[in-house]
Amino acid sequence: MTEELPVVVVGTGLAGYALVRELRKHAPDQRVLMITADDGASYSKPMLSTGFTKDKDADGLAQASAEAMAEQLNVEIRPYTAVTAIDADAHELRIGQERVRYSRLVLAWGADVVRLDLDGDGLDRVFSINDLMDYRTFREALAGARHVAIMGAGLIGCEFANDLRNGGYDVSVIAPDHTVMPGLLPKPAADAVQTALAGLGVAFYPGTVVQRVDRQGDAVRLTLADSQTLEADLVISAVGLQPRVALARAAGADTARGIVVSRALETSLPDVYALGDCAEVDGHLLPYVMPLMACARALARTLTGERTEVRYGVMPVMVKTPCCPTAVYPPPAQASGEWQVTQDGQDVKAVFRSPKGETLGFAVTGRYAMEKQQLARDVPPVHS
Ligand code: FAD
Repeated sequence: MTEELPVVVVGTGLAGYALVRELRKHAPDQRVLMITADDGASYSKPMLSTGFTKDKDADGLAQASAEAMAEQLNVEIRPYTAVTAIDADAHELRIGQERVRYSRLVLAWGADVVRLDLDGDGLDRVFSINDLMDYRTFREALAGARHVAIMGAGLIGCEFANDLRNGGYDVSVIAPDHTVMPGLLPKPAADAVQTALAGLGVAFYPGTVVQRVDRQGDAVRLTLADSQTLEADLVISAVGLQPRVALARAAGADTARGIVVSRALETSLPDVYALGDCAEVDGHLLPYVMPLMACARALARTLTGERTEVRYGVMPVMVKTPCCPTAVYPPPAQASGEWQVTQDGQDVKAVFRSPKGETLGFAVTGRYAMEKQQLARDVPPVHS
């Protein structure tokens, strides 16, 4: 008798584990193999930027080891194993020379950090933090440090800035734009967050970028494009993420900003699905937890015989800057309309309204952040 081919899930981040948890509700005995390049520990990635605020180091943030997850979910997990190619016609994965056959394949392999092309001999002091193993390395390097420079003032750069200040570190943020979180927050809300972070002691270097990182004893000296210099003990690079598309594209899958999938999470390859940070779902690239949870629920049903399309509801993004609580639900990219702003110092309520007066998005900071649920009732879902 031939052995049942497994459903193979590549990636043990929130997307991979959420999917398998959902799958187990419908198919307790389905053979599942999870393959991951990392150690397979289960953790909540959003907590990486709250380690000091919540007083948790990397061990404190790990929820369960790969072995514990394998037992809990009744699956086989292969940690420290990087998939190197997909042969969709043969229904096989490649791990170097090894071939692994699958019945269905799920790509939950996340996004790569964008790495800047910097000059200097201090680049080993530049850290990107996109998983728990990165965080452990960063926390070890932080021992004895006082001053952290952060490249990038997006959501992740701002969250780390707040968290490191809460941990008592000096923090400098260098970013090309003049407002924080451009593209996510309208200017009045961004200014409120930036003012609150500055009030907490974060030093901003807006409108410029880091060009060189040079060793200066145990510390580094950063040279900026506008010729300013500053010293820090180490540097966090928080300049963005790129969905991992290369292996899928090489296998013939349609890719755009992410791996292109239908609302049923189907790639253009037979029996290959994708969800999480690597996937562009029906044109939407939403690298957040709520969308991937919705995808996991839908895909678990599809994999157990009931093709199910995901429907994204209203999913505001909470920005974890406790110095200025912030929630945002951006309007659709091409929407016409304007922001209407009510402001009292760092308390900002910005509502994006169409020419017909419909509410299409919002951003709230400070005490207005409490109104997010009420505002969420007025906006249309991502998938209407
Ligand atoms: P990942 O967690 O990156 O998992 C990818 C997995 O694939 C890993 O196990 C990796 O080892 C594996 N892998 C990659 N390549 C291969 C390969 N070739 N072979 C085998 N395995 C491979 N979202 C929110 O909604 N709210 C927040 O407050 C929030 N805060 C955040 C804070 C930080 C600091 C960061 C970095 C992100 C935050 N996010 C937040 C985003 C959210 O955490 C991500 O959208 C989510 O965790 C992505 O999960 P994932 O499983 O798709 O990817």
